[in-house]
Amino acid sequence: MQPYAVTQDVLRTDVAGMPLEWIDYRDAVRLYYMSRVAYVCGSPIYRVRGGWNARTGLRSVVEVNSIIATEGDPKLRERGDAFTPPLNNRTLFKRDANLCMYCAQQFPTRDLTRDHITPFSQGGRDVWTNVVTACRRCNNFKGGRTPEQAGIKLIAVPFTPTYAEYIYLKARRVLADQMEYLLTHFPRTSPLHARLRTHLAREAGVGGLGRATA
Ligand SMILES: [Zn+2]
Repeated sequence: MQPYAVTQDVLRTDVAGMPLEWIDYRDAVRLYYMSRVAYVCGSPIYRVRGGWNARTGLRSVVEVNSIIATEGDPKLRERGDAFTPPLNNRTLFKRDANLCMYCAQQFPTRDLTRDHITPFSQGGRDVWTNVVTACRRCNNFKGGRTPEQAGIKLIAVPFTPTYAEYIYLKARRVLADQMEYLLTHFPRTSPLHARLRTHLAREAGVGGLGRATA
């Protein structure tokens, strides 16, 4: 039982099941040893060997699950309705599924830019609701204009991700069960549902869902 390399991150939730953060195998093992794992979800993804027990002479082994529920960390309590995730291109492009929000084509990350819908020069701000993913061509064409001034239309309304959505956007590599878990914590109206369905369908077409979906 070692289906994934230890580089696979574990999804940590609080005891109520709210997603908190991604942790690596070291942090996961530490939480197991400190008996802070309240319960586990998902499936076992790897086994990590620990130290030798002086009394029993046996070596401890920790089986790490893809999702673990732990006692909440006060530092992470600031999530919730008021939470605004930091804005960066990696998570922005992922929010928009690497689609240019003007021409609706999908591009590799290197060909994408952050477009300010209302440009700085017209008072626009650098916030989630005023930025979209755009290809270079569309961004150049639009220039310092609003979409209306440039005569182009957005294909979707930009949104500020919720905490759970942000956890997904931040992930390096998401396992199918972690993805399913996160999806249940997205708002029902989240555009990510449709974007991910398309993404998952594409993944399924090329070698099955069992592997990562990030
Ligand atoms: Zn474009």
